[in-house]
Formats: sequence, structure tokens, C-alpha cells
Amino acid sequence: MIKKLKNWGSKPCHWVKGVPTFYVLFLVTFSLLSCQTKPADSEKAGIAISFDDHFIDDWYALRPLFQKYNARVTFFLTCPVLLTTEEIVKIKQLQRDGHEIGFHGTIHGNATELLKSDGVQKYIETELEPGLKHLAQIGIKPTSYAHPGGNHTDQADSILLAHGFKILRDVAQAERKLFGIPVYHFEPRVMSWIYYPFNKRKIVDALMIDEGTNISEKEIKEALKKAKDTNTAIMLFGHQPLHEKPKNGQYGFSVTFLETILKEAKVQNLKFYTMSELPDSKIKLQ
Ligand SMILES: [Zn+2]
Repeated sequence: MIKKLKNWGSKPCHWVKGVPTFYVLFLVTFSLLSCQTKPADSEKAGIAISFDDHFIDDWYALRPLFQKYNARVTFFLTCPVLLTTEEIVKIKQLQRDGHEIGFHGTIHGNATELLKSDGVQKYIETELEPGLKHLAQIGIKPTSYAHPGGNHTDQADSILLAHGFKILRDVAQAERKLFGIPVYHFEPRVMSWIYYPFNKRKIVDALMIDEGTNISEKEIKEALKKAKDTNTAIMLFGHQPLHEKPKNGQYGFSVTFLETILKEAKVQNLKFYTMSELPDSKIKLQ
């Protein structure tokens, strides 16, 4: 708005003279009122990136990239009981760097099937407790959860929220294929559900950026700009960092594509959020 007034003020004097005073007053008053009722422009606009599964060495190798862009992200770890001593050292270092360690299940099970076949108690004893206990022993207490395989039910969500998780992350996909043929392709900027509006929502969807989802650089840049324009945080996630095309059933994202995202986040001056920070963050009105 200030910019608008400045531009308007820089108009030649004869233009101002020709405009009726009441009209000028109306415009200024209207502009001031608009500013008071609107959220502060892009004050909270940001990006929350997360990574799933157990690719600790590969995630650790991304440290220089994260440092280059002052990026903080969330690692949703599964099968923590399999952590080696070296991996524990790396996970702890990532945490010290300011990244968040979230939880992605003890056995990476299918919540719907586990709850159906074994019931609530067994689900808790199989999927939640052992992994959380193991992480607690190494000083990690996750407060965010990503559903293994993007599978969950309302019942699973209530159990997880009752266990104290602040936010539960599900999967959103820009493109889906059936027998190798794309059934749909959304431009990410129209997927309103991948934007966090800072309303304390605890159940969210993040857009998968893995290879095969066919999101172009242009599309992702426009998607980040939308976060800036709407003062929201865009949520993205991937699996294994890859330096070449996936092979032998690998599922992961291109590190070059990740750098495009980090670079654009800097250009757009987006804040980096870890997943647990999203529901904690409040939007301020001017
Ligand atoms: Zn997973």
C-alpha cells in the first residue's frame, strides 16, 4: 500500500489538481481501511519441506545444500529400531542443525489394516510404542507424524493426536496414473489443500515432489509464489534424494529439483518451517 501511495504521490501535480478533493480523500481512506483488515502482507508466508522413511546417509549428505539456503526441514523417520550407531550420530547432528525429527511408524505398517486385524491396543503396541521408546532413549521425542504409505483413518488420527502429536501429515499428489496413463494432473498452485493457512489445523496434506509426479519447474515456482501471495505455507515432501533418474524401483526426488525449490524460496523470501512449527505459528493482523 505504501508503494501505491508513493507512486500516486509521484504523479505530476497537474494530475492531482484535476481530481476532485473528495475523491482523493475517499481513495486514501479506503486504502488505509483495507490495510487494517487484511493480514500483514506475506508476514508468515513460508515453506515446510519434509522427507520420509530411512534414508539417513542421503539426507545427511544434503546438509551443505540446506546450509547454503538456511533451510530447515523435517525428517519423518521410520523403523528407528534399525538405526546404527553412525546413523544415530547423523540424525542427532541434523537435529542440532535446526531440523525436526518426526515419526513415520515403527514398522511402516498400513494403519487401516493393522487396526482392522489387530485392534487399537495392538496397533499402539506394534506401530507406535516401540519406535517412540527407542527414539526417546536417544533423546528424540517426535511431535509430528507422517502416515506410512499415506494410509490412515479417523480412528488412527485420533489415536495419534491422543499420543500428543501436534500435526499429522498425509500425501497429496499432483498427478496419478492408471496403467501408466495419467488420470489427472493438477497444477500445484490450484491445490489449496497443500497450503497451510496458519489456522492451527492438525491434519494436513503435503505435495509429493518425487520423480514421476511430473511437476515442472515453472509449476513449482508458481506454487511457491502463491504461498507468498496468500500468506500461507506450502507443504512439500519427498523420499530419497537422487542425483540421477530412479532405477530398480527407487522412489525419490531429484536433488536438482530440490535446489530449484530452495532457490525460489529464497527469491520469494519464504520462511522455512518445520512441521511442528506450523500449528504453533499464529498469524498477526495489523
Ligand atoms: Zn514411508
